Amino acid sequence: MRFDLITIFPEFFAGPLDHGIVRRAREAGITQVHVQDLRQFTKDRHRTVDDRPFGGGEGMVLKPEPLFEAVEKLLEGSVGDSEAKMPPPEKAAIVLMSAAGRLFTQETARRFAQLDRLVLICGRYEGVDERVAEHLATDEISIGDFVLSGGELPAAVIVDAVTRLLPGAVGNEASTQNESFHEYAGAPSAPTGARGVLLDFPHYTRPAEYRGWKVPEVLIGGNHAEVAKWRRQKALEKTRRNRPDLLLGADPR
Ligand code: SAH
Repeated sequence: MRFDLITIFPEFFAGPLDHGIVRRAREAGITQVHVQDLRQFTKDRHRTVDDRPFGGGEGMVLKPEPLFEAVEKLLEGSVGDSEAKMPPPEKAAIVLMSAAGRLFTQETARRFAQLDRLVLICGRYEGVDERVAEHLATDEISIGDFVLSGGELPAAVIVDAVTRLLPGAVGNEASTQNESFHEYAGAPSAPTGARGVLLDFPHYTRPAEYRGWKVPEVLIGGNHAEVAKWRRQKALEKTRRNRPDLLLGADPR
């Protein structure tokens, strides 16, 4: 999987992608991460990436030309124009980071993990010329219902979530199959809109008693069937308590 991160702050990614699984996956050749300085794709002397908004109002907007040029160069193909729009690339997604995008979920991460290339466009200022969302990006993605000052953190979030799903990236594959947002086994066909996923069950480690708080007895007993039953029950309770929206309409028992 090759990631290209298009940004006006290339130095931003020096830290966040240099640890743990994301770093090891890169070192093992499972991923390649290329940070692209948007200014390199400008053609004017001042290397202009932004301009004032048509219609007036606050702030600046990222211009379309450098972004189209960058993606076309990276994917070695033309997007076309209003007369002749070219089909989107195969096995690649062009993802625009946007507070106004569709919510990024574990399901999105799984879909992206099937691809060979992800090009992530990081917005800044008031945002990005809408023609990028309409005619360049294959996906317009938000990482949550809040507004950040730039798309760099969201892009790093996506690189992390996708990388750990790639074969070989996480030591124990079961740990990415049996964690928060996995679909629960035997789910009844949930009504439209219900995602039918559970959060993770609680984890404990030594000491078995800390400040008088004991680890649940069942985890210490060594009865695997009982442990599995308990974990499922706790995952369900926690989902009900913290994220009832995930269970909407579905009865996971
Ligand atoms: N005017 C925009 C916010 C711009 S914030 C609005 O009201 O929707 C500047 C940039 O930060 C955006 O272009 C986007 O790339 C990024 N960004 C901000 N919040 C984000 C979020 N929740 N998810 C993904 N990207 C976000």
